[in-house]
Amino acid sequence: MNPVAAALDRLNNLLGPTGARLVAVSKYQSDERVMMAYEAGQRIFAENRVQELLAKKARFPSDIEWHFIGHLQSNKVRMLLPAVGLIHSVDSPALLEQINHESLRMGLQTHVLLQVHIAQEEHKFGLKAPEVLPLLNRCAEGAFAGVRVGGLMGMASLCHDDLQIDSEFNGLSTLFTEAKSRFGARLPDFNELSMGMSGDYALALLHGSTLVRMGSALFEAGALHS
Ligand SMILES: *Cc1c(COP(=O)(O)O)cnc(C)c1O
Repeated sequence: MNPVAAALDRLNNLLGPTGARLVAVSKYQSDERVMMAYEAGQRIFAENRVQELLAKKARFPSDIEWHFIGHLQSNKVRMLLPAVGLIHSVDSPALLEQINHESLRMGLQTHVLLQVHIAQEEHKFGLKAPEVLPLLNRCAEGAFAGVRVGGLMGMASLCHDDLQIDSEFNGLSTLFTEAKSRFGARLPDFNELSMGMSGDYALALLHGSTLVRMGSALFEAGALHS
């Protein structure tokens, strides 16, 4: 078995009992490695740049579902929408409004997650936690007919302090549960909690992650420690 298929196998075994799905983050990876994951059965891949997502979508098999996980600039929204299965990174009300507007113009319904800023680093993108419930309330009232809000996404601090990461994932998970109990009946797609990457997926799974975004642990041989 090639190293990518072996890592995928181990990850799927870990995820199996949790029900979480693996999002294979293919940015910076060679086509050969991406195809190794595809041939081993992986069908959800993610990119953080619009141009790169479009280029990969054009040259890889058409049954791949492409997710977008980077900061989305407003001038790229229109290009992205017809190509993307899920945008994890809606990080402002203005971006949600724009995605909604362009989706309606194109006759699409775009699946999105709201990205919440949970890390200590200031430079990271995302809604502030107190902004999330008011925005979801507008969604629940039907203000955004061109989008389907599927849940929340967050990135923990890039640090080795497990207690810090744990408390950040716990905070996001609590917000997700609160949002689901308030708005779940009116937002039937609100089921996904996208959190966890190669370095912190185990903690994310403990806090109920449903989508783990994995790059290095999947594609770089030997990077997966268990
Ligand atoms: C690159 C990236 C990942 C994957 O990171 P790894 O540490 O390689 O698993 C996950 N989420 C986002 C938003 C990313 O940009």
